[in-house]
Amino acid sequence: MERLQSILQLLTRPIEFASRDAYAHLSTVKDLGPFVSRQVVQALAETVYPARVETDLLALRQLFTDYDQVRDLAERKRRLAGARAILDRLSHARERAESLAATAPPAALWTIPIQYAKGVGPKRAALFQKLGVRTVEEALWFLPWRYEDRSVVTPIGQLAPGTRATICGTVQSSDLTRTRRRHMTILDVIVEDTTGGLHCVYFNQPYLEKLLKAGTRVMMNGMVSAGRKGWTDLRMDAPQFEVLGEEAETPLHVGRIVPIYHETRGLTSRQIRVIVKSLLDQYLGGLTEVLPDALRARHRLPTIQTAIADVHFPGAPANREALDRGITPAHRRLAFEEFLLLELALAMRQRSVKEEIKGIRFNPRTPLVSRLTELLPFRLTGAQERVLAEIQRDMAAPRPMNRLIQGDVGCGKTVVALYAMLVACGSGYQAALMVPTEILAEQHYLTLRGLIHALGLQAVLLRSGGSPKARAAVRAQIEAGQAHIVIGTHALIQKGVRFAQLGLAVIDEQHKFGVLQRKTLLDKGYHPDVLVLTATPIPRTLAMTVYGDLDVSVIDALPPGRIPVRTWLFSEAQRRRAYQLVQDEMRAGRQGYIVYPLVEESEKVDLQAAIQGAERLQAQEFRSVRVGLLHGRMKTEEKERTMAAFKKGEIPILVATTVIEVGVDIPNATVMLVEHAERFGLAQLHQLRGRVGRGTQQSYCLLLASGIRGKGVGEKGSEARQRLEALVNSTDGFVIAEEDLRIRGPGEFFGVRQWGVPEFRAANLIRDAAMLEQARQEAFALVKTDPHLAQPSHQPLRAAMLRRWQTKLDLGSVS
Ligand code: ADP
Ligand code: MG
Repeated sequence: MERLQSILQLLTRPIEFASRDAYAHLSTVKDLGPFVSRQVVQALAETVYPARVETDLLALRQLFTDYDQVRDLAERKRRLAGARAILDRLSHARERAESLAATAPPAALWTIPIQYAKGVGPKRAALFQKLGVRTVEEALWFLPWRYEDRSVVTPIGQLAPGTRATICGTVQSSDLTRTRRRHMTILDVIVEDTTGGLHCVYFNQPYLEKLLKAGTRVMMNGMVSAGRKGWTDLRMDAPQFEVLGEEAETPLHVGRIVPIYHETRGLTSRQIRVIVKSLLDQYLGGLTEVLPDALRARHRLPTIQTAIADVHFPGAPANREALDRGITPAHRRLAFEEFLLLELALAMRQRSVKEEIKGIRFNPRTPLVSRLTELLPFRLTGAQERVLAEIQRDMAAPRPMNRLIQGDVGCGKTVVALYAMLVACGSGYQAALMVPTEILAEQHYLTLRGLIHALGLQAVLLRSGGSPKARAAVRAQIEAGQAHIVIGTHALIQKGVRFAQLGLAVIDEQHKFGVLQRKTLLDKGYHPDVLVLTATPIPRTLAMTVYGDLDVSVIDALPPGRIPVRTWLFSEAQRRRAYQLVQDEMRAGRQGYIVYPLVEESEKVDLQAAIQGAERLQAQEFRSVRVGLLHGRMKTEEKERTMAAFKKGEIPILVATTVIEVGVDIPNATVMLVEHAERFGLAQLHQLRGRVGRGTQQSYCLLLASGIRGKGVGEKGSEARQRLEALVNSTDGFVIAEEDLRIRGPGEFFGVRQWGVPEFRAANLIRDAAMLEQARQEAFALVKTDPHLAQPSHQPLRAAMLRRWQTKLDLGSVS
């Protein structure tokens, strides 16, 4: 409305003037038509007005479209009178709107679209959306990604080429030239202070001539370079500038520590800076403080107003390094708020689970448990025993189990899960084992089937392929309760399968997280105990965020007698050396895997590479032995035949796509060569490597990678190298995961589409790990004293938490 007022003033002036003294100036006012039209169009483009105002503005424009062509003075007078009436009406509309605004409560900042903020409008709003900013609140939380210190002003006489500097002076001359080649302009602005003069040169920005006219006081910031005549002739190319006003206003773009924002085409950091500044002026007071005072005092955190203001425009004594690293008090306060909201959401979700009473009674000591112990060819490790005891306790308790088992590759999670499933089956319930892919489901089925049948239970594999008739038969078994243990993908629950009596859901996530939520099970009407297995050693900070509402058990020891696998990294040029090592193992009578990458997006090409690779190896390097091939597209019987032959030692070398990732257990396999290792995730490679080193012999893992050596290696290349070296240097999954996380950051680490890792604006899971712990303690303590955050002083916190996490974390039940 402020903007409307200034436009009305602009329009009223010439119209009143032309009408004054009985239209005495009617013919002296020129170009009234284009002027009115321009103002109206601009006003409508900038802001969305109420429909009535808009109609009036358009009517106004209509009156003047051909005004300058009208020769009849009486007609001109009629038009002016009409215009005055409209202007009169509009200015009253403004007053009404203002009095309305004065009584209505201020709108919450997260409800105000950024489009309606000063200087934005629909076009820029679309650009802001690209940057993830839709509301005024999001704009205030759109933090600079770095800062530039433009606060120290250097006298021009002391400038040195090759340094960035800020100067302050007066434009002495401003000279615009056009080069012969069309479309090229050069603006040469000479700025002087008492110590000297400096050329500031702008290419192709002719419009700056109007701003940087002679006599204008300006500040400039840019890289100083020597001009044509050397030292005495210094220049800055396209420096950042700021025209200094009459009053001693603090400048925005120079003469201070300046925030630099991520840009998008059409919206520069400079423009964002101006908009953010005006948002701060207008809306800072409208930000709600969500952190309770006592908590803020305990952690010495500034208020939300101070933090938001400082993070954009840091006050005078600022530490630029701390700013760039995002660890100023302002940054820390914002990060703490983000962590606290997340942990509160997790704490409340956990509570809501704990408040449930399960309608199931499990007998943790069913005879099936001891019979499995007799059947197994090994004894459980101490770590396995401990975790199994925790599970048995959970299952016997009246509250639902919601537990995560975390443990390195090969530590034996499957067998622990099998025990849990037997507890369910022995108590008269069904158990489901769900894995991320069809191939993994098959692997589990093949390894577990024998044991399960030996215990007198029925196991079924629910697949999405195969004949519809076979699928229907499996479903019927599940619905009738004849199938005790059901193995399938995570889609198993969604596919409309009805269990007769689902008592336990085991979710084997391998190196993917959070694919299946407990909520999904509840939505389908099941209330089973839930056990999540994760083979990926998640760093503690991440486990807390991703699985913050689960109880965690860790299997922290491997079965005895394992010798750590030795790992080498080879470049393409060293391929022959790698083959030699494989051949050495063959000669010693051992077996090996050659693994090709396979991803969904390029499945066809990847598959072809594996098939051709196998053919080539059989024809050349490994002529003398049989080379087998195993991939996901083969028929199950064919796969089983190949695996059986490999197990018996008839096939010394198995070329495979990533199907062998799990389940394969061949102690005589002592070497694994991985093609295009750079295409695998570290966790996945670590998992693959777990397929060798299962016997009593020393085993080897050979990583072949391209683009990791030699000159001209791009950032990607060196990053790939760093990652793979983490694998060479360690066999500890936790160390590897920490390293992967450090190099790639949480987004990449988890894969882009995983919900698991929340997007933070100020917080950083790695940098702020300690703070996350503090926030977690505060959150859980808070929920303990005020389980529903019902106290008045917790209302803003509760509202902010729900806004941020309700849908993402399925908090439906806690609100
Ligand atoms: P992961 O935890 O990676 O899923 P698995 O459950 O596949 O590991 O187990 C890896 C291998 O170790 C399997 O062959 C399994 O039979 C074997 N195993 C599991 N527990 C023991 C144990 N206590 N002693 C010896 N071998 C074991
Ligand atoms: Mg496993």
